Order: sequence, then C-alpha cells, then structure tokens
Amino acid sequence: PPSYDDLFRDFGLGDIFDAYSMGSRGSRRRAGADLRYDLDISLTDAFYGSKNTVAVPHQSECGTCHGTGAQPGFLKECPTCHGTGEVRTPQKIRNRQVISLSTCPECVGSGRIIEKPCPTCHGSGVLQKTRKIEVTIPRGVEDGQLLRIAGEGEPGENQGPPGDLYAVVHVKKDAVFERLGADLRTTAVVGLPVALLGGEINVPTITGSALLKIPRGTQSNTLFRLRQQGMPLLNSDNRGDLLVKVIVQIPTNLTKKQEDLMKEAFAG
Ligand SMILES: [Zn+2]
Ligand SMILES: [Zn+2]
Repeated sequence: PPSYDDLFRDFGLGDIFDAYSMGSRGSRRRAGADLRYDLDISLTDAFYGSKNTVAVPHQSECGTCHGTGAQPGFLKECPTCHGTGEVRTPQKIRNRQVISLSTCPECVGSGRIIEKPCPTCHGSGVLQKTRKIEVTIPRGVEDGQLLRIAGEGEPGENQGPPGDLYAVVHVKKDAVFERLGADLRTTAVVGLPVALLGGEINVPTITGSALLKIPRGTQSNTLFRLRQQGMPLLNSDNRGDLLVKVIVQIPTNLTKKQEDLMKEAFAG
C-alpha cells in the first residue's frame, strides 16, 4: 500500500510540506540542473573503450571582486537608502500616517553602489569558465547510449545537491565496418582463381586482419562468419561475429590467349 508520503507527492502536497520544513521559499535547497554533453567517438574507440575529457562550461564567482562586481575599494554604500536597500515614504491615508516601504531605485535593493566596475569580470561578478571532466567510455558502447556522471551537473542552490552530467555517445560511421548490434559486417574481394579453386584471403578485422578460408567454387555475395571477431558485448568477455561478404572479381580485359583458354576450358 502507498505510504502517506507517496499520497502527498501524488497530489503535489509533498512540495508544500517541503517548503514549510525548509523555511521560506527563497532559501529552499534546490538541486542543480542536469547537463547534457554529446560525444562523438570512432568505432575503434567503441571497441576498445576510451577516456574522453569533456570541457563543461560553468559560471564561477569572480575571485577579484568576490561576486560584488566592483573593483576592490570602489563598492560604496548607497546614498539614497544608506545601505538598507529600501526607501521609506511617509504617506497620509485616511488621516493616518503610513510609512510605505519600497525597493531603493538607485541600488535596486542591494544597498551598495558600484563606483568602478571590477576589471576582471566587467561588473558581472561571475566568470565563464570550463571544467574538465574525464568520461570513461566502456568497451562495446552502443550508439546513442547515455552515460551518467553523477554530481557533475550545475551546482545546487542553498546547499542543494548538484545535478548530473549525461554524456550521449555517438559512434561515428566507419569506412570499413558496418555495425549490426554486436556483429560487424564488411566486404572482401576475391580473385577469380581463388573463387574457382579455393584458397585463403586476408580480410580486415577491427583489431587488424585475419585469414579467411575460401572454399573451392565460392559464389559472389557469399557470406562468411568469423566467430568472436565482432564488437565486445557490454560487461562480458564475449564478442559478436564478423560477417564477411565476398565479391568475386570477374576480369574484364582478357588477352587473346586468356580468352582462348577460357573458351577451351568452359566450352559446352
Ligand atoms: Zn569581478
Ligand atoms: Zn539604495
């Protein structure tokens, strides 16, 4: 059965209770926003796994002015409100003296006036910086996979927890291999004598090359399977297979002698 906590959450009341327990709304702990970062990697990186350094932009307090935006020594008390941030205007409403409070228009409530802006941050009080975060990409990562790096998002407010960083992995198309789940697929050309009489050819693999036995009388477009030569399976020592489609190369420019031999050999 659901707890009272769940019920409150369902009706949106959890929020209100949280707000009360935390004091006023303004000082509430607030979790930082999650960040998304797109990472383009090669198929080889997806095969071996890799470490990538990502530069995440973030704002940090300016060290020169400590966030005030003023050049040190040039932050003065506001002369209009004398540092209180509000102005008091006496009014008479129905013969009664009423003091109306409003935000000071000169300092906009801060109580301070910047006489000279900080030369480091040009008065904003914050600096745009980049944070370098190392992202470990596991072997066999899939295209579109989301990697969560806990606590590396935007900082929280009022001691709230930071958000998370999500790296979205994009595996680039490879010139040699097509990926079909854990299997890889490639094409190899075999000469006519090997296709006719059998033999061995060298085929590319993701780690280098391998010998592939071509049986006598192999037709064009025959698919061969090299076991355990595909992509690693996530969290496993096993690998997918490499599928090799063999294309038989038919010579197009025969000499007179070759032509006669062919006619003689395959006549009838
Ligand atoms: Zn500054
Ligand atoms: Zn003021």
